[in-house]
Amino acid sequence: METRYIFITGGVASSLGKGIISASLGKLLQARGYRITIQKFDPYINIDPGTLNPYEHGECYVTADGMETDLDLGHYERFTGIETTRDNSVTTGRIYLSVIEHERRGDYLGKTIQVVPHITDEIKRRILLNASKQPLDFVITEIGGTIGDIESQPFLEAIRQLRWELGSQRALNIHLTYVPYLAAADELKTKPTQTSVKQLQGLGIQPEVLILRTEHYLSDGLRNKVAHFCNVVPEAVIQSQDLPSIYEVPVDMHAHQLDEVVLRKMGIADPPEPDLKSWLDFLDSRKRAQRVLQIGLVGKYDLQDAYKSIRESLAHAGTYNGYKVQIHFINSEFITPENVAEQLAGMVGIVICPGFGQRGIEGKILAAEYARTHDLPTFGICLGFQIMVIEFARNVLGYRDANSTEMDPQTPYNVIDMMAEQKHITLKGGTMRLGAYDCVLSAGSRAARAYHDQTRIRERHRHRYEFNNSYRDEFARYGMLCAGVNPSSDLVEIMEIPSLRWYIGTQFHPEYSSTVLHPHPLFMDFVATCIKSLPTI
Ligand code: GLN
Repeated sequence: METRYIFITGGVASSLGKGIISASLGKLLQARGYRITIQKFDPYINIDPGTLNPYEHGECYVTADGMETDLDLGHYERFTGIETTRDNSVTTGRIYLSVIEHERRGDYLGKTIQVVPHITDEIKRRILLNASKQPLDFVITEIGGTIGDIESQPFLEAIRQLRWELGSQRALNIHLTYVPYLAAADELKTKPTQTSVKQLQGLGIQPEVLILRTEHYLSDGLRNKVAHFCNVVPEAVIQSQDLPSIYEVPVDMHAHQLDEVVLRKMGIADPPEPDLKSWLDFLDSRKRAQRVLQIGLVGKYDLQDAYKSIRESLAHAGTYNGYKVQIHFINSEFITPENVAEQLAGMVGIVICPGFGQRGIEGKILAAEYARTHDLPTFGICLGFQIMVIEFARNVLGYRDANSTEMDPQTPYNVIDMMAEQKHITLKGGTMRLGAYDCVLSAGSRAARAYHDQTRIRERHRHRYEFNNSYRDEFARYGMLCAGVNPSSDLVEIMEIPSLRWYIGTQFHPEYSSTVLHPHPLFMDFVATCIKSLPTI
């Protein structure tokens, strides 16, 4: 089958869940046996979100091939289990950068470089790129931002052209909007949707499917009204009501026939039925898991999206262990020696989060000390791993000034130090150690057991600093052992204290590869241990 292209735009407001809708449609097409990929095109000018503060756009996700991307790629992978690559995440900055590089090389042979056609051509090339590298039946392209944003215009022009060039069987526009409920009038309002569709039409784009996000049920009459005003057939006006979990969205969209409408509109007769069995089993386990597990997330970004993949990984592991994980964000900036016990009270385990810079560091160290000395199951990720190391050096090895050279370049005990390969790097963007690298696990370690005694694993990274190997023996003598190293660089990937219930830190980010159908083994083992350490009543 020739590759088909689905474009998903959003209108009226941001944060409507375009990423979840894209991931859900991808899931449904995949469940019908189609080969798919989902990609995100973001109109902002940063080359990638790697340099963005998490308060701007939430977590920075990392692909196995080492691209720092928007967190929506995490949803795509968690829903479909298909690994994304650097080709699945494109920003205005990347588009302009490659056009300008071509111009500097003289590739345009003296032409004036313009938004149309040079920028739009580059956007189109990137939209088509994934399918030129692998056989794909569907490429779903989510356009970030909201209709009306100045910077989305070239992207909308590119998809307008592609829809025209490819024709209605091979390209389809889906527009996601919001239908607000006005309590005072007790009415649902469709005018913002009509206005948003008019704006798209003004740009030459006629959405063929509308998905209306709503907090209340939309009657047939109301959907018919939208259909009538927006030139869309009534069955292609689909409501997407708020649901208790994002993982219910694929099933809900299927119930509202989103996938069926899409296939029909693209001229696919008699498509295979979707096989959603394992997905439905997961949802079923999720509903049945009523017992609650309180896990503390010790971090500094007080924002749901900042640790998105960690939250989802804990939720997956909870479901498969028959528990609902209730996550308590504990802001490390406010942890003091006096209140640390109180701050961690009631938690059966803690995750010490990744991060950068000085803010909140000492609070994380206090949390690690408390957890280690009270045998509270603890999972340190990236900076969290480094914190466990620093705390151990200070309080067990007795190096009071031990630190990471990221926080204290003058520390006499640089137990965490900048990687040699990083020392000459001056540019901040895209220059960390990024993406998947091998790690050899120490036989018999707690970590190896968690990975079902595998000897070699592959996990994703995003860091500049590492464990200082000259301290490795000393740590081991005092009970903190290296349980995994990179086979070619000898870089320490995992440290653990085997005498404790679960005290493991990883330099890599396991949270990027936990999916709904394949929860991550370390999260599974951590959650299982937390459950075992629940007080028995
Ligand atoms: N700031 C630390 C480093 O660069 C940890 C990074 C992280 O937690 N992702 O090594």
